[in-house]
Amino acid sequence: MSLAPSPAALARAGAVLTVDLGAVVANWRALQARAEGAETAAVVKADAYGLGAAAVAQALSRAGCRSFFVAHLEEGIALRRALPEARIFVLHGPNPGTEVEFAAARLIPVLNGMEQVEGWLAFVAGRGRPVPAALQVDTGMTRLGLSRAEFDALRADPARMRALDPQLLMSHFACADSPDHPLNRQQAERFAAFAADLPGVTASLSASSGIFLGAAARFGLVRPGIALYGGNPTPGAENPMAPVVTLSAKIIQIQEMDRPQTVGYGATWAAPGRGRLATVALGYADGFLRAIGNHPDTHPVFATVKGTWKARLVGRISMDLATFDISAVPEDRIRPGDTVDVIGKYASIDALADAGQTISYELLTRLGPRLPRLYRNGDAS
Ligand SMILES: *Cc1c(COP(=O)(O)O)cnc(C)c1O
Repeated sequence: MSLAPSPAALARAGAVLTVDLGAVVANWRALQARAEGAETAAVVKADAYGLGAAAVAQALSRAGCRSFFVAHLEEGIALRRALPEARIFVLHGPNPGTEVEFAAARLIPVLNGMEQVEGWLAFVAGRGRPVPAALQVDTGMTRLGLSRAEFDALRADPARMRALDPQLLMSHFACADSPDHPLNRQQAERFAAFAADLPGVTASLSASSGIFLGAAARFGLVRPGIALYGGNPTPGAENPMAPVVTLSAKIIQIQEMDRPQTVGYGATWAAPGRGRLATVALGYADGFLRAIGNHPDTHPVFATVKGTWKARLVGRISMDLATFDISAVPEDRIRPGDTVDVIGKYASIDALADAGQTISYELLTRLGPRLPRLYRNGDAS
């Protein structure tokens, strides 16, 4: 199976997303070292946060990753085609009536509420033997998971518990990216009590940021997503992860300015006088969120030109276009058809998300289908 866009497709594209699979693998290994003996799974929901689940998961599988998480059944079915052997968990669990599809694709549903538990027990009873499932409990996020009372009621019925035979017990932190938040310790303590009541079942509480909260948050399996893709799991401190993504946009036109003039919709930015501008084929329809350009004074945004020069984003981001001030680039070093890196050396995914008043997760998952995904270092493992 080839995942590479053709040279013709790359030539046609206005912008290209390059994914460094070697960096994804290096990040997984770094997290594994941090997890100190806990199994390190990989969360590849939402098409591996927009980067391409098949390519990412296959690279991680070659590096030794055995367990993967997606959100939807459909994502699980697609991932099963790419990974015939791996353990694949489906975080949302079964919609009523879809249980049989989990068994058919050997997908492990995360059972999040009593309706899903009852539906699964009915399905398993029809089969006459347990089918692997995972159980989520709520420890304080109040999003998905059995309450303590529901869990206790289930546990008080050993026949049902035996029929369920969970492979994994999991819960999720609400505030792991704020290490001092008091809810972290409360959730870890509550989860430890749940886990103690299901001895022998692998327990999992931490996603990317939780891995950095210390041993009490670790349990048997960790489930990083964003840190694999280069997002900072320790906001406020230096990013320990390697960058994974480069977003390169092609220059359609270069303009010389010889007098003050405004740029773009709303005429929000005025070029002071002499200078040069490059308009590139990338806009908010590609996931270069319009809000990223809205705070030039507090959050200036810089593209990287040929690995060296800084080019500042000016004016509003349009649907399909954005404009950069390339006055700092020597005139003979840049022309239409060249690219600027909009995610690159001078703009991390966290910095761009910050400028757009969002988080790297949303930035990555909005990267649009117009961008061909080009994979590098896929054999690095
Ligand atoms: C998305 C998700 C993860 C991964 O979270 P990151 O912060 O990206 O590491 C882990 N567990 C659950 C339940 C999730 O929904």
